[in-house]
Amino acid sequence: TTADLERMLHSIDGRGYGGYKQLRGRYDLGPFDLAIDRVQTDPYAPPSLMRIIVDRADAGFDAALMDDAAGQTAVGDFLTRRFAAAARAPQRSQGKDARAPRISIGRPGQEVLERTSILISADTIEARFSAELPAAGRRALGRQAATLLTQTIPDLARHALMAESLSPADRTALADHVALLRDQVDLCSQLPDRGLVAFVGDGAILPRRSGDSDAPLEQGAVPFASPASLEVGFELRSGRTVRGMGVPVGITVIAGGGYHGKSTLLRAIERGVYPHIAGDGREWVITRPDAAAIRAEDGRSVADVDIAPFISDLPSGADTVHFSTSNASGSTSQAANLAEAVEAGTTALIIDEDTSATNFMIRDERMRRLIPADREPITPFVDRIRPLYEQRGVSTVLVAGGSGAFFDVADHVIAMDAYVPHDVTDKAKRIAAEAGDPGGETDAGAGAVDFAVRRRVPADGTLRPADKRKPAKAAGRGEIRFGREDIDLAAVSQIADAAQTQAIAHALDRLAERFDGGLSLVDGVAELDRLVDAEGLDALSPHAGNPGTYARPRTIDICAAVNRYRLLRIAKVLEEG
Ligand code: ADP
Ligand code: MG
Repeated sequence: TTADLERMLHSIDGRGYGGYKQLRGRYDLGPFDLAIDRVQTDPYAPPSLMRIIVDRADAGFDAALMDDAAGQTAVGDFLTRRFAAAARAPQRSQGKDARAPRISIGRPGQEVLERTSILISADTIEARFSAELPAAGRRALGRQAATLLTQTIPDLARHALMAESLSPADRTALADHVALLRDQVDLCSQLPDRGLVAFVGDGAILPRRSGDSDAPLEQGAVPFASPASLEVGFELRSGRTVRGMGVPVGITVIAGGGYHGKSTLLRAIERGVYPHIAGDGREWVITRPDAAAIRAEDGRSVADVDIAPFISDLPSGADTVHFSTSNASGSTSQAANLAEAVEAGTTALIIDEDTSATNFMIRDERMRRLIPADREPITPFVDRIRPLYEQRGVSTVLVAGGSGAFFDVADHVIAMDAYVPHDVTDKAKRIAAEAGDPGGETDAGAGAVDFAVRRRVPADGTLRPADKRKPAKAAGRGEIRFGREDIDLAAVSQIADAAQTQAIAHALDRLAERFDGGLSLVDGVAELDRLVDAEGLDALSPHAGNPGTYARPRTIDICAAVNRYRLLRIAKVLEEG
């Protein structure tokens, strides 16, 4: 109870910081329960983990808002943002006072992701957050802690978790937030039947404010407008209809002059695997969730990946059906990224010339004449892009402003002109026909290729770090510290949020058990994903009660992290038909 908690805190006021340890437990604070799950050992350690819990009946939200997975994710996201904003507000008003308690529930970005920060169960709504327990030097400030735990935090919960605190405008915003996500999920689920890999709504604002901001460009943005030939419409669950450009399955090339908005369109499609909040500008940019951005990433390690469709007969004699290296080149890294994404089950590749190895993508006629095919280990992607679609059903959306080599193999060519897309397929096909022989057919082996389904089985113990005292931990969005190794995820551009990286870090431990049991990489990750479907994201956590701040990662990005672990060893490779 509140009185017990206050008494305990007053008794440790001014004593050693370790006195806080006895706080662990669960307290009944009137309408809320406060669970203190992990207490920091000193003022400089990571903040303490807590939960505040309220009965759904007392919280008073309309149950219909939360009666499906999308509704729960949307409400959870809304309450997280509300809690986070309120938690920041008093800290601002207290200025630079170093002793102002810092309460953090994570910071959702422009995406709406499934998160651990708010848990909506059958009976309760629970906020998971961290808070710094106040100190002066190494002394516990028990009285301040009492204010924090018995007033500040319950006030926050009252503001963020109780429907009665919502203004009429807030209520509308919440209902709209839920309806938007449900419609986005609905549209996404219709893409396969409509034969599309992505949809870009008319009126969308694609450019971002700056290279390091994911917020929309505020001034001078040209709204997206579909070419008539690619325009499609969707009727959505709420009754809303949206129109825009459908990117069909097959091969779509985005051409256009430099600085005319090619990469911006592609990047929006790449991020369209996640739904975006209202006002982002990309609300109606929706891409198949398994789409994979593929780029060159020289220097990465590769463990037993079949890159033979692209690279064979290396001068070193290295086996490219079972290709391993600790230091891949531009082209071999891009080939490995692609092969791994296909292994992980992608149905759409997203590739920008800006981040590709030219020799992986194309080889022109002069070079084909100068260097005979049997002296060139690389069969460029232009020769493989169609078999990949025809044999494996893997589509490609590709930006190519510097070469017309893909005109022959493209199903659609879109030209960006001053940020406006035009369907130039016919013209591109005519140009390709006039130019005659594309050259690719002359390459030995260019026609015959077999994209086999391969599943790699990691070796026993491969994911157990030598230094067990250091559990896996995210260091920002782009890095995981795993034992003594760092896993570099900077190039895995579709991980959008550091909270996803943290979830991936903890997923590695759950995967280790599965690999030791002989599961393949892809099957282990799929099994983990089913576990998360059944039990929620908490299932990834090594801690009972409070998992910390996670957002749900895509299975393909979990695979990407394992693939970049430099000590990954593969025991065997399973092949199917
Ligand atoms: P490209 O890949 O064709 O060279 P980018 O996509 O990199 O071009 O875009 C070039 C610049 O134009 C970027 O600064 C980008 O923010 C801006 N831009 C892109 N699309 C739009 C748009 N629709 N309206 C206004 N500016 C845009
Ligand atoms: Mg570009």
